[in-house]
Amino acid sequence: MAFVTRFAPSPTGPLHLGHAYSAILAHDMARAASGRFLLRMEDTDLERCKPEWDALIQEDLHWLGLSWDGPIHRQAEHIANYNARLEALDHIGLLYPCSCTRSDIRAALAAPQEGVAFNVYPGTCGHRGMESRKPGDALRLNLAAALEHLGAADLSFTETGPAHVGLHRVDPTHALRQIGDVVLSRKGEDIVAYFLASAFDDADQGVTHVIRGEDLFEFTPVQVILQHLFGLPTPTYHHHRLIRDENGKRLAKRDDARAIAKYRAEGATAADIRRLVGLPNP
Ligand code: GLU
Repeated sequence: MAFVTRFAPSPTGPLHLGHAYSAILAHDMARAASGRFLLRMEDTDLERCKPEWDALIQEDLHWLGLSWDGPIHRQAEHIANYNARLEALDHIGLLYPCSCTRSDIRAALAAPQEGVAFNVYPGTCGHRGMESRKPGDALRLNLAAALEHLGAADLSFTETGPAHVGLHRVDPTHALRQIGDVVLSRKGEDIVAYFLASAFDDADQGVTHVIRGEDLFEFTPVQVILQHLFGLPTPTYHHHRLIRDENGKRLAKRDDARAIAKYRAEGATAADIRRLVGLPNP
């Protein structure tokens, strides 16, 4: 079976050790399987994404000895296409507009319901029809209606990452309580949110294996639901461990101390980075 994977950074800052681990692992797994390793820039946050970061990411990857197959896919170049495809969910009545601000949502969640994850949207705008959509509204998926629409579909995915290896079935009750009505198009921007853009891209780019950080494991059911709603294939998932600092905290983009460019400037080699993140040298 063909093996196609991708590294999908957001160009909002420098690559750090955590990204390097993810990119090297995906690259090595693709090469070991005689497969393809693609590069996708998740650059739909037009304010935070910068061409300088995009260029630095490419430079860092080259320096790490990683080469990708084919042209770079930049999400910002495909926004009209994503939006057009989102309309299919409107036609079957699965979207509603939402004007809630973060503080509206926080206030509505001040008395959380037992068993409901703290960040699940409380459904304040859930009664609104699309005809009430105003400029500036976000669009949310009506998850209960979506699950009903999918009926007896086999909502499952195969995971090969060490922490959750096996077949996972999406449990609708759990999804409603833990995921809820996710935003598919961002407030005021008409830009489809990460969950959806990345589900479209994985399908369009023929990705067979999604290799990414463990922090995204819990969001995989949303993507599986979206894949079924749009008739897209579900790839195999491999969620890998996260690289943490000495206090056990996950590295973030703003953690410049561990930026690859900094190691590079200090005279480290690509082999040193592989050793630091615990990956074998080829
Ligand atoms: N853009 C995401 C990130 O930088 C990666 C998402 C994915 O690999 O699916 O964390």
